[in-house]
Amino acid sequence: LCKKAKENADLPCITVDGRKLSVCANAGSPEEAEQAAAYSVDGIGLFRSEFLYMRQRRFPTEEEQFEAYRSAVRSMGGREVTIRTLDIGGDKGLDYFQLPKEENPFLGCRAIRICLKRPDIFKTQLRAILRASAFGRVRIMFPMIAWVEELEKALEILNVCKKELREEGKLFDEGVETGIMIETPAAVILAQELASRVDFFSIGTNDLTQYMLAADRGNPEVAPLYNPFHPAVLRSIHHVIRAGHERHIPVGMCGELAGNIEAARLLLGLGLDEFSMSAPSTPRIKQELRAANYGEAVGAAAEALKSPYTILG
Ligand code: PEP
Ligand code: MG
Repeated sequence: LCKKAKENADLPCITVDGRKLSVCANAGSPEEAEQAAAYSVDGIGLFRSEFLYMRQRRFPTEEEQFEAYRSAVRSMGGREVTIRTLDIGGDKGLDYFQLPKEENPFLGCRAIRICLKRPDIFKTQLRAILRASAFGRVRIMFPMIAWVEELEKALEILNVCKKELREEGKLFDEGVETGIMIETPAAVILAQELASRVDFFSIGTNDLTQYMLAADRGNPEVAPLYNPFHPAVLRSIHHVIRAGHERHIPVGMCGELAGNIEAARLLLGLGLDEFSMSAPSTPRIKQELRAANYGEAVGAAAEALKSPYTILG
């Protein structure tokens, strides 16, 4: 990292022509959240909750989860923490939880699909996240949404949890924001309808690329085909940002592409509001965005979108 990026890491991320961007860190544990706090990020854009479930031999209790989330929220000291609900399945299994044996786990029972099948597991987590929201600025994010019905069901269960906590006299932030990850082609196409039901979007380009291009993100045989700069992925990103902005909600990105220096100006030009990535990548991305001109980036992005070829990556 060059000296200039380090020196300027604490400055707000504003382009030369005045567009303010939010630059956040992804974290996979409370320890990582604490490390992220040392970087002057605007918050945690993706707090992966899987570690809690993978660390032990049984499902974590509400209390254990509450403590972990609260610890992450506290270390961010008033900055926003976006906690993603359980995203197991696909390539992430749990020894103590028998998932069905599947031929295509990435197209099978994972993430929100498991949570909606097992509302007991889901509610324990939602109650823990809600309780942690009393200690800072928490946002709740649902992964792998492909159906409006899935989102509505998840929000219903969240409301049940809020009602229970109220009755029990347990504190939580009544204004806690909810959002979804956009990581399926279905969610891209339904972005307008989804946007009217949530407070924010975060684009998960790791999964979106794999599902959009039908190329397994972990299979080296198709690695050359797995490219987030594919025009279909870029146009999807653009579509999602526009749909979000039409409904006046911010659109972030927490997939790997958000921390890719080659993509920064393009994503700026597509109108992305929040970039979330591994903490050590943030100073460099901030430096790139602070040196950029938003107006110019918009023009360049519009030009890039016209190409049916992959222009970068
Ligand atoms: C993504 O899919 O882009 C994402 C951030 O989620 P994960 O990598 O945890 O699947
Ligand atoms: Mg994902």
